[in-house]
Amino acid sequence: KLIVFEGVEGCGKTTQLRRSQQWLVDSGWQALLQTKDCLQQIAVTREPGGTELGLKVRQLLLEPSTAEAIESRAELLLYAADRAQHVDGYLHPYLLQGALILCDRYTDSTIAYQGYGRGIDLNLIAQLNHIATNGLESDLTLWLDLDAATGLARTQRRGAADRIEQADLSFHQRVQQGFTALAQQHPQRIARIDASLREAEVAQQIQTVLEQHFAE
Ligand code: C5P
Ligand code: MG
Repeated sequence: KLIVFEGVEGCGKTTQLRRSQQWLVDSGWQALLQTKDCLQQIAVTREPGGTELGLKVRQLLLEPSTAEAIESRAELLLYAADRAQHVDGYLHPYLLQGALILCDRYTDSTIAYQGYGRGIDLNLIAQLNHIATNGLESDLTLWLDLDAATGLARTQRRGAADRIEQADLSFHQRVQQGFTALAQQHPQRIARIDASLREAEVAQQIQTVLEQHFAE
């Protein structure tokens, strides 16, 4: 199974993904799924940067070394290249082996950031996502819903210097609108999590959704 964590900057995806990984072990769900669904292992990964090539692509995207700005379409294609490598070289093989994968960002981020954020045509992005994923969709997407301004304030507190677009609140508000629209369009796949609450409460919501999902 492929479980994806999505949301704006500072929504707590990475923290919650780690907590979920730990909870799966501590709660006994990992052991239960091993018996029930022949689960082989739990794998944690992210986009961009889930492979060796992807790490280089991530650097190109997030630490641009030249004065030249990355054009939106070039950026889109770099994210797609990262994803194609990730799907073929990591996600697909691990899923075939019976892994449960927790993935930090996937196709919805491209729609939200490059589509709603940068204004690239959504049909073009849908086609490109299809090419990059070869049709591999997430089984469950946990959308950590957080107001863009709150999220940006959190990352600024964290002092993450590698963040792009920090100052551009309206960009992140469009991204947030993108996630909101996606959640409305895919109510089956996307579970909304209130990420404005305290870390432990967010974790609790996620655990409830995961338990429901595993029980299905
Ligand atoms: O998930 P993480 O915070 O590590 O994402 C790294 C950066 O990549 C974020 O700043 C996000 O804005 C950016 N990003 C993007 N378009 C995507 C995925 C991520 O601009 N499709
Ligand atoms: Mg993160």
